[in-house]
Order: sequence, then structure tokens, then C-alpha cells
Amino acid sequence: MRDLTAGSGALTILVTGGAGFVGSHLCDALLAEGHRVICLDNFLTGARANVAPLANNPRFTLVEQDVCEMYRCAERLDRIYNLACPASPVHYQADPVQTMMTCVLGTGRMLDLAAEHGARLLQASTSEVYGDPEEHPQRESYRGRVSCTGPRACYDEGKRAAEALCFDSDRQGRVDTRVARIFNTYGPRMRPDDGRVVSNLIVQALAGERLTIHGHGAQTRSFCYVSDLVRGLMALMETEIGKARPVNLGNPGEYTIRELADMVLKLTGSRSGFRHLPMPRDDPGRRCPDISLAAKLLGWRPEVPLEEGLRRTIGHYRAVGSDLPVPDVP
Ligand code: NAD
Ligand code: UDP
Repeated sequence: MRDLTAGSGALTILVTGGAGFVGSHLCDALLAEGHRVICLDNFLTGARANVAPLANNPRFTLVEQDVCEMYRCAERLDRIYNLACPASPVHYQADPVQTMMTCVLGTGRMLDLAAEHGARLLQASTSEVYGDPEEHPQRESYRGRVSCTGPRACYDEGKRAAEALCFDSDRQGRVDTRVARIFNTYGPRMRPDDGRVVSNLIVQALAGERLTIHGHGAQTRSFCYVSDLVRGLMALMETEIGKARPVNLGNPGEYTIRELADMVLKLTGSRSGFRHLPMPRDDPGRRCPDISLAAKLLGWRPEVPLEEGLRRTIGHYRAVGSDLPVPDVP
């Protein structure tokens, strides 16, 4: 393995899923640090508009390709951030076999590429690996309660298998890996038809439509603003002591979906009501990260409070428009 110590200058970095919501913010931040960035994306859920402003940057290259296909890179890669995968339940359940293959085969391909180049790989894992948890908040040591037969399995079991591939590749000495367990993240550039709760509620509130609440809205989530997450991903990639172990990245503020909806109504000034829909199968009842490991290893904590992050996200939708329809619940 090559010695790629932090701060050694500009690196060549591959970001898979780089045209997506998180990936495009990560590409921006890496370019701002002076790195060379190659974005690989098949535009399944990404948007060309997310990376269009980067087209004229000589340090940016866009490769339209599926992460499951073999990728030959002429340049020597230093880092790979593997983010390619639909993240919204509506989209990852639309073609569950493809989602599982993206998680497993795609991550396998990227690990092979990392091994070939001697590059370090950071895997975008998820709080979904904890399933519908019995422990609160969730620590990295918790093994989770995941259904391998339900509609979320393509994603959460796929991400668990991807983690195992990373840890085994590291133990075999093939690839230097980092694994981020990302909790619900939101912000500008989520597609209006993304289907996740923050974008749905804001788009509906701005359109004067009723806000869709699954069940009574008593289930909880912890929402991290995207710039906080990106800072955490970059810190984890460059740490020497966060190697080959899962690290939670998320905002520990825990809110019910109903509390989130009330906040969206207040901040948009919308007078929309609510539309209660059935609770989707296997929907986790509570989710909240324990981030003490990230704080200790990386000195990282989120800085943007939920109200402030929602304000910025609402401002984004007001500016770009949000006329794509909110998708149906799977
Ligand atoms: P997103 O859907 O906006 O982005 C995913 C990107 O991957 C899209 O640009 C999509 O086109 C691309 N993609 C999907 N399948 C692909 C394939 N087979 N080949 C190439 N590209 C492909 O989602 P996001 O919220 O930006 O999530 C990014 C990553 O972070 C995902 O791996 C997701 O599992 C993980 N994650 C996100 C969150 C969150 O709350 N945002 C939480 C946990 C984990
Ligand atoms: N949810 C909701 N209304 C929506 C979309 C989602 O009440 O329009 C709920 C969903 O059932 C879940 C929570 O909000 O309990 C978070 O859903 P999301 O799809 O954003 O992410 P995940 O379930 O993967 O955490």
C-alpha cells in the first residue's frame, strides 16, 4: 500500500454517486480543497444540474457509468469515496435487485479498483444497518435488528454485505478502508421527487398540499445537515485511527416526524394540513446516533441546528422551484 498521509497535497479522488445529493456537495468540497475529482454516476437518482456548475473546472471529470461495470482509470487514484446507491426508500425499492447488486457488486468493483491503485476507500454505509433498533441511541457496537426478508432488505442487507467486503478487504491487506454509517441527512439538492421525508414535507408545504405523515408521525429520526456530513466524511477519510471500523456520522438531535412537519409548516408559513398514510412495512420506530466515537476520533460534531438547516433547504427549493411530484409510498 502507498503511504498517503493527510495533508500531502492535492490528491486524485474518485467519487461514485458524485452527481447525487451528498455526492455533489462532496465533489464541491474536495475541489475547494484543491483536489482533482472524478465523478462516476449513472444518473439513476442523481441530477445533471448538481454537477453542471463543475463542468468547466479543469480538475473535474464526469464519467457516466454504472458502478457495477468495470472501470479502468488511466490516472492513478489516491482516494475513492463509494457513494453510488439510491438512498431513498421509494427509489431503492423500485428495483430492489439492482439496489442489492449496486451495494455488493458495485462495492466489490470499487475495492478491486482501490487495490489496483493502492487507493484508500471510504464506504458510505448507513444507519439502516441497525434496522429497527432496540438500543437508543445506536452505538457502532450494536449489531442491529434487520429483516432479511422485508422490502428494505435490498438496501440494509446490501449495505451490511458491502461493509463486510470492506472489512475483509482491509484484513486481507488489500485495501485501506473507512466505513461511515450515515444517519438521515438533508439539505439543498435533494430532488423534489426524492421521496425522503424532509424533501417531501417542504415540497408539499410550498405547494400548499397536505403534508404526508406515515402512521401517527410518532416515529423518530435525527437529521444532519449536508455540510456537516461532508465535513465528517472528509475527516474520516483522512484519519489514520478510524481505519477499518464503522463510525457513525449524524446529528444526535432526535425529532418525531410530526415535530418535523410542524417545524416545516412554521418555517414555510404554509397553512397546509396533514394527510396520514399507512406506516410502511419495517419502518424503524426510533433512530438516533451515538456520535461519541466520531467526536473522539475525528473531533467532529454537527454544527447546523435543524431549524437553520431547514431554512437553508427551504430557501433552495424556493429558488430552484419544486414542481416535480412527490412519489407514492412503496
Ligand atoms: P442520492 O440518491 O441522491 O445519490 C446516489 C447517487 O448514486 C445518485 O447520483 C445516483 O445516480 C448514483 N447511483 C445509484 N446507483 C448507481 C449505480 N449503480 N452506478 C452509478 N451510480 C449510481 O442519495 P444520497 O442521499 O446522496 O446518498 C449517497 C450515499 O450515502 C448512498 O450510498 C447512501 O446509501 C448513503 N447514505 C445517505 C443517507 C442520507 O440520508 N442522505 C443516509 C445513509 C446513507
Ligand atoms: N415519512 C413520512 N412522510 C413522507 C416520507 C417519509 O412520514 O412523506 C416517514 C417514513 O415513514 C419514516 C421517516 O419519515 O418513518 C423517515 O423516512 P425517510 O424515507 O426520509 O428515511 P428513512 O425511513 O430511510 O429513515
